[in-house]
Amino acid sequence: MDFSHERDLTIDELVLRARVYMPDEDFALLKKSYYFAEAAHREQKRSSGEEYIIHPLNVVATLIKLRMDMDSLIAGILHDVVEDCDVTPEEIEREFSTNIAHIVVGLTKISKIKFKTKEENQAENFRKMVVAMAKDIRVIIVKLSDRMHNMRTLQYMSVEKQKKKAEETLEIYVPLANRLGINSVKAELEDLCLRYSKPEIYYRLAEKVAKKRSERDAYIRETVQLIRDKLQDFGVKAEVYGRPKHFFSIYKKMLNRGVDFEQIQDLLAFRIIVNNITECYKALGVMHSSFTPVPGRFKDYIAIPKINNYQSLHTTVICPRAERIEIQIRTHEMHEVAERGVAAHWKYKEIAQGRTSKMDWVQELLDFNQNVSNSAEFMDAVKNDLDFGGIFIFTPTGDVKELSYGSTPLDFAYAIHTEVGNTCVGAKVNGRMVPLKYRLKSGDTVEILTSKTQTPGKDWLKFVKTSRAKTKIKQFILKIERDKQRSVGEELLEKSLKMHGTNVKNILKNNELREVFDELHLRNIEELYIHLGSGRYSTQLILEKLPSIDVSKVSEQELKKIDSYYNRLAKTVKEKSNKENAVIVDGMDDLLVRLAKCCNPIPGDPIIGFITRGRGITVHTASCTRISEHDMTRTVPVEWNKEFAFKHPVNIRVMAHDRPGILANISKIINAKDINIKSAMAKSLPDQKGSFIFEIEVKDYSELLSIIGTIESIDQVLNVTRV
Ligand code: MN
Repeated sequence: MDFSHERDLTIDELVLRARVYMPDEDFALLKKSYYFAEAAHREQKRSSGEEYIIHPLNVVATLIKLRMDMDSLIAGILHDVVEDCDVTPEEIEREFSTNIAHIVVGLTKISKIKFKTKEENQAENFRKMVVAMAKDIRVIIVKLSDRMHNMRTLQYMSVEKQKKKAEETLEIYVPLANRLGINSVKAELEDLCLRYSKPEIYYRLAEKVAKKRSERDAYIRETVQLIRDKLQDFGVKAEVYGRPKHFFSIYKKMLNRGVDFEQIQDLLAFRIIVNNITECYKALGVMHSSFTPVPGRFKDYIAIPKINNYQSLHTTVICPRAERIEIQIRTHEMHEVAERGVAAHWKYKEIAQGRTSKMDWVQELLDFNQNVSNSAEFMDAVKNDLDFGGIFIFTPTGDVKELSYGSTPLDFAYAIHTEVGNTCVGAKVNGRMVPLKYRLKSGDTVEILTSKTQTPGKDWLKFVKTSRAKTKIKQFILKIERDKQRSVGEELLEKSLKMHGTNVKNILKNNELREVFDELHLRNIEELYIHLGSGRYSTQLILEKLPSIDVSKVSEQELKKIDSYYNRLAKTVKEKSNKENAVIVDGMDDLLVRLAKCCNPIPGDPIIGFITRGRGITVHTASCTRISEHDMTRTVPVEWNKEFAFKHPVNIRVMAHDRPGILANISKIINAKDINIKSAMAKSLPDQKGSFIFEIEVKDYSELLSIIGTIESIDQVLNVTRV
């Protein structure tokens, strides 16, 4: 299809074109819409200097190429009158129809969406568009035609605007055209985007292709004839076409394979169109027996259609001249769908009240999470073709979650449940351990590992992607902070009241705090504690407001006592929460805490503390085999200090095939993760196996899990265990 700008297009010409596929239609309303729009836009000009009406006319030309229905064509003519002129939707409804007014209003709404251009917001953009088209999918098809013409006439805009439009088109409209299966529009838009967003690449490609033009055209003709002859020899009736590939698809190949233009071999694509599916496979057989197929390049989208309903057989073969060519084989119906996508399914006048089957299809898109089936092939199609920035992740039981592009296992954990996120210590992706900051890919199956002792850390905020995960982590951290402040505040108030011979219970009973609450806009005593603990209000300020307390009765000296008490309390909290101790011992300050050498506990492990005479407290893992040697009555409850950032030593044993360089290989991988190796020991075992023991320093349990997973992913490695 050719979507070039036609500067002399008239309404009569459009009527002629539309009559080809709508022979029985009355075109009076279309003509009326033209006069209506022409009058409305009369004062306006395009940036090119042309009359404005040439734009809607060209938009309709595209809609006709897609064989859209009459309502769409009329909406195409009228698409800018509400936004750019003083026409109201009611007027359109009165002069034309309710359906047409709906489409025009939908288009006006889309033009007001502020699209975000960052890749993480693509899913959101896409969803907005899907919502807009859920009412009537024709809205999007008219919008795509509108964008097509604007991209076609982009040369009249400033360079800055060109780039911006091209980027927006590439991020939003191209994936949408792709999702709707309108490949003709998608491919054209992609090439236009490349021209304006990467002009240096576009023109280089154009130049290279143009250089060999006559030679190439002759080659295409020759090859088409050759393919025709071969098919005829085997009795396959077919139409055969050849063309140079779209620039954007060449560019994508260059990027994917990391090669230069000179190394790209298959610049030409051929298409074989036959009458039925049996002939598709027959034609494929003929091609593979006549030319040498390139291994790994055959794709059967007939047996497994793409998610946008695209069907074809794809193969790459080597031609007599030793050049690679791509061949697509499809039926006429498949070709219609490939070019026009959802527009090809558009059954004229099938729009019942409410929704048609096509709108159900859009609804399915909205409910995508629920509706994806769990077959690997289907996910492959999603991965390849629904590239709008969102990713789809499976739970081990086959449920699917949609996450933003760049999401991590932690985002996934929070998507399942806040509690799963808060206690997440590690994750297995497709059966392999990965670090928490691992970037997930569509189709990954993710199993989240949790530990009751785990809690969110501030560092998590640095790598999670979804706003849900960010919010939940912040909430948790805030709550911890609040809890600390609350207990400091409570202690302070009790202590101060005690000096005046009373306590919180009494004050509350006598309702003495009511005035304080009112004045400071506090709802309850808990809020007061938090404000005292955070230092926002002093206890002195509160005491002054209590009717039963005479502040002057307390001496300066005693006030100082409270001050220093507060400082000490605040300091303890700070110390506990900062870097002083890896382990917090319940209710005891200034105790010497050491981590047991026998089991090397690391944050995340369940732990037990033992009081050791003269040596303070020794902390073991709950599963330490040497615990039984201790007197169980001397245990104390201990917990990990979440803020503690020191490194902990831990031993891991790696069993591997004893190949040269394996030790160096493992060490390299550990070092690459910024993990320090304190010592390494190697031992040869029978059957050419080796056992390696590394003493490494990790931050916590999840870092340990992550490094174990990474080492396990080395080919020669059999297993990794903590020892
Ligand atoms: Mn427009």
